[in-house]
Formats: sequence, structure tokens, C-alpha cells
Amino acid sequence: MGNIINWRRNKPDAKILLGYLPQLKAKTISEKRTESFYSAKHAIYQYSLNILIRPLLDYRNDGFDLKTDNGELWCFPFISVMLGDLPENAAVTLTYNSVNCKYPCHKCLIKNNELNNTRLNGDEIVLRTPENMKDYVDRGIANQYSLHNMKNIF
Ligand SMILES: [Zn+2]
Repeated sequence: MGNIINWRRNKPDAKILLGYLPQLKAKTISEKRTESFYSAKHAIYQYSLNILIRPLLDYRNDGFDLKTDNGELWCFPFISVMLGDLPENAAVTLTYNSVNCKYPCHKCLIKNNELNNTRLNGDEIVLRTPENMKDYVDRGIANQYSLHNMKNIF
């Protein structure tokens, strides 16, 4: 068994809109810059994303039986890619959305002043993983790694 063939996967009836993500709007520019507004914005984003994908994630360990025209298939859902621009990726990963912070990349822990250093070796780059990010949040040192001190749904 392989992937669903392209012509089938690209048909309009093969996709559904799961929902829209709410977006908080600040009343004023000064309110928009407050820590509590940023925090509320991240919380509502994570909460909404959790509602949308929780039905899939609940089956990630045991799978489920998918009824098809050719019988039942035992399936394991997973998210292979989430596409987004820098602010969207920062929202998903709960990293700071600023190139001026100490660790501005949502994928790795490269320091701000090393961002344009093309001579770094692979072993000099520490990736952000769910494990090390959770560890920083649990230890209360998330802000030292340009990470919001909040539980990530992933
Ligand atoms: Zn990076």
C-alpha cells in the first residue's frame, strides 16, 4: 500500500476545511504590545489548533479503521508538514516572533549574532526538539531560549 494517488488526492472532494483560527485584535497599538496581549494571542492560537487537530492526534498511537470502497484500512494519522511564514511558525512553536531576540529561529537554537554565519558546522547547531523545549518550559527557563512559557499542544 502506498500513498493516495495524486489525481485522487487533488480532487476537491478529497479535502475539507476543518475550520478557521481566531485572531485577537487589540483595541490600541499600546495594548497590542503588552505581554498579556501576546500571551492571550498565543493561548487562543494553541487552544484553537488543539481543537482542530486533537481528533487526529488521539489516534496517533493506536490508529483507527478507515472504511473505504475497497474495505477497511488500519491507519495512523500524523502531521508531516506544517507550512507557514515566520510569524505562523513562531505561533505554532511558541518561539518569539522577532529577529531581535536571543534565539530567533523556530527550528534551532542559533544565536541572533550567528544567523548569517555560513561557516557553522552541523554539530554547532542545536535543533529545537519537543523534548528540549518542554524541558525549558518545565524548568521555568523558557524565556532564556526565546520561547514562551506555555504548554505547546504538540
Ligand atoms: Zn535555525
